Parts: sequence; structure tokens; C-alpha cells
Amino acid sequence: MIRKLIRKVLELPSGMAKRHKPRVIPLSQHGIRREQLSKAAFRVTTQLQEAGFSAFVVGGAVRDLMLGLTPKDFDVATNATPEQVQRVFRRARIIGRRFRIVHVMMGQETIEVTTFRGGSVASTNETGRIMADNSFGSQAEDAQRRDFTVNALFYDPAQQTVIDYHHGVKDLQHKKLVMIGSPERRYQEDPVRMLRAVRLAAKLGFSIDEATRQPIAAHAHLLKKEPPARLFDELLKLLMSGHAYDCLIKLGEEGLACGAFPLLDAVLSDGDDHQFLKLGLESTDSRIRAGKTVSVGFLLAALLWRQVEQRWAQHQAAGYKPTLALSQAIADVEAEQDEDFAIPRRFSITMREIWMLQARFDSRSGQRPYRFIEQPRFRAAYDFFALRGEVGEVELDLVQWWTDFQRADFIEREKLIATAKLGEQASPVKKRRRRHPARKLSNGPQTGNA
Ligand code: ATP
Ligand code: MG
Repeated sequence: MIRKLIRKVLELPSGMAKRHKPRVIPLSQHGIRREQLSKAAFRVTTQLQEAGFSAFVVGGAVRDLMLGLTPKDFDVATNATPEQVQRVFRRARIIGRRFRIVHVMMGQETIEVTTFRGGSVASTNETGRIMADNSFGSQAEDAQRRDFTVNALFYDPAQQTVIDYHHGVKDLQHKKLVMIGSPERRYQEDPVRMLRAVRLAAKLGFSIDEATRQPIAAHAHLLKKEPPARLFDELLKLLMSGHAYDCLIKLGEEGLACGAFPLLDAVLSDGDDHQFLKLGLESTDSRIRAGKTVSVGFLLAALLWRQVEQRWAQHQAAGYKPTLALSQAIADVEAEQDEDFAIPRRFSITMREIWMLQARFDSRSGQRPYRFIEQPRFRAAYDFFALRGEVGEVELDLVQWWTDFQRADFIEREKLIATAKLGEQASPVKKRRRRHPARKLSNGPQTGNA
């Protein structure tokens, strides 16, 4: 109790290193072999050390290697300044103004090299948010300003040791994410750490330590002040983590959806089942885990489809023709998003195309199916349509027809078109099954528009 009190009174400002010695863990205990580093990561650390500096692989890569996972990328931390780093390598570029880091290019790889940072003079604003954090520090200070204990491990390939200032190895063994320092203050300094906690817990299958988890709900509102571009980057990392669905559900549970992305709040608190979202995200999750590529536009289209689909039904019920109703629904949803965060154009274009093409699967006469499958975005639109089929939103027969049409030769295609025509004549008012009863909109279409 007294010790706790003294600690509280003497509590060091965030980032200031505790004066304790790190644990130095030998190869027999950490199990990381040098050969597991990428060529470039190994060469960058070695060359910096040969030039007289200290250099370590740090952060997520060390954590992942100890867990037997393949790191996404390798980061290096050093006591050399960015200019000194640049002098050691032929292809190196200093980037960033606030946080100056060096990108060292080697072959196809780029290694991010950061100079040890000290946090003692980091300036914060009135809410405790870090505004500038570019002072150099010692290795111990650098460890202290990282987020979670498992993210503050340094690997020295020359000595083959792991250097652990914050009991990261112990937490790693217990599969626990523990914030370094006071979680409240660390969230105030940088609210994105809350999103990182959720993402990393889902990715690693870790629990979030109770003291680290507990303040999240009360600090969620701080995310609203973060720059939309940074939030979007985090959302993207989350969606591309291979655990997108679990991450989204956890964001909702921790109260972060409304703090960070009002949009996600709508997605998650629909009262509606999340069947479509679950199916869409899980199918891309398994693609990512199998090392396949996925389109961000497709992911975003799946994420927001429920909103589009509901409005589409409403506009059709109000008398608009399907295509016009759909483009109106898309415009509505896009206008809402603009207020939350802007989806970069390179993604929103694909997202919109996938949505817009959903109106074309009903047209199976004449040349239309031929023209449709030639569309560059047809395949993505078809995959999306098939997902809709799986949740019962469109007839499975119709999905099957398009599956067959793609595979068929010319004669078979003509037969398929003829069968479709017969089918339509037999049941001209065959309605698609909608899971959302359409509500009538007050602003119905102008006569002549419909
Ligand atoms: P991933 O598997 O997504 O790459 P990561 O932990 O490596 O996870 P990065 O964004 O690559 O995440 O960051 C590298 C390291 O930088 C982290 O491991 C952590 O030590 C530190 N770091 C990143 N973001 C923050 C932050 N917001 N606050 C404190 N430290 C951070
Ligand atoms: Mg990383």
C-alpha cells in the first residue's frame, strides 16, 4: 500500500524510463533463430552494429517470432540518428516530419529504422494527447514509450538474445496484452492504442489484461478527435488482419465502435443479425489467412451493404426502378460516411461499383449477360452476389444461373438465356425474398422518374 502510494507520488512522466535492468534472454529460452529474420532485417542490424551503433529488431516482429508466427514486416531500432543511419546505407530515405524514421531499401524489402525515442519531453495538449514526440532517448526509454509489454522486446541477432524491459516474455507466455505504464494516461496520449489492443488481441488470440481493458469504454470518445485518415488506416489494418469479424465484434463490445467509427456502430447495433457481415468478412478472413489477396473495396462493400440494401428496398418501395433506387441508396450511404471518415477514393470506387452492379443480375435477356460478364468488376460483383445468395437475400437459382453462364460455351449460354426467358414468362411477378420489410419513404420519386 505504502509502496503503491510512493510510486503514485513519484510517478514518472510517461516515457521516462524506470531505472531497472532489462532481462536478457538467451536463445535456449526465446527460440528465435537468426535465419528467421528476413535477409534485409538481418543485414540492416548487422551493418548498423558494424558501424559502431547498437541495433535491434523490435516490436511486432520479435513478438510474432516468439509466438511461432510469420512477421508481417521487420522494424529496427537503433541509437544512430536518422542522418547517421542514412550514411550507413546506399538506399535510405528519411521520412516523416513529426516522427522521423528512415526507410532502408534492400532488394525488394523496406526496413523501417527508428532512432530510440525518449518520452520525457514529449509535449501533450490539454487532454494529454501527445503532440510531439521526436526527442531521442535511450533503449530503456524507447521500450517505455511502446504500447504493450509484448511489443517492447528487442532482438539482437549478433548476440542472439532478447532484451526485455517490461516482462513482455512473461505476458507473452500468458497470452496477455498489458499496457506499459498507466493505461489511462497512455490512452489519453494516443487513443489509437485502444484500437490496437482490440486488433492485436484478436490477431494473437490474447486476452486484454483487465487493468488495460477496463479504461477503454470511458476513453472511447477520445477517438473522435483523431484525424480521419489515421482512423481509416487503423480500420484497414483491422479489416485486413485475417480476424476482421472477431475484431469488429470486440470493438462493439468494448464500446469503441461508436467512439471511433459511428459508421461501425450502425453496422454492429443493427438489431439485425450480422449474418451477411459475418459471412462476408469470414470469407475474406480465410483468404487472408491462406495468404491470398483480398480487395479492400470488396471488404468495405460487405461492411456497409446492410445499410445500402435497406435503403435500396425503401427506394424501390417508394416507386423507383431498381437501378435508380440503388444509386440513390448508395448516394445516401456515402453522404453519411463523409461525416464519419472519408473512405479514400481508390477504395470507394470499387466499393460503389460492386454495389451498383448488384442491380444487373436480374437482366438476363439478349446481349446483356454477355456484356455484363465482360465488365472488369464482374467477378467481384458476382462473388458479392453469391454471398447475398448464401444469406437468402437473393434466389440461389439465380446465383447458379450466373455460375453456369460464366462456365458455359456459346450454345449453352444461348440455352440458359432461353430458359431464363421462359422462367420469367412463367412467373412474371416473381419477387425476390427481402429480409427487410421496406418502409415507405416520405420523399417519393417525381412522376416520370420512376
Ligand atoms: P502488426 O502485427 O500489425 O505489424 P505491430 O505491433 O508490429 O503489429 P506496428 O504498427 O508495426 O504494429 O508497430 C511496430 C511497433 O511500434 C509496435 O510493436 C510497438 O512497439 C510500437 N507502436 C506502434 N504503434 C504504437 C502506438 N500507438 N503507441 C506506442 N507504441 C506503438
Ligand atoms: Mg509491425
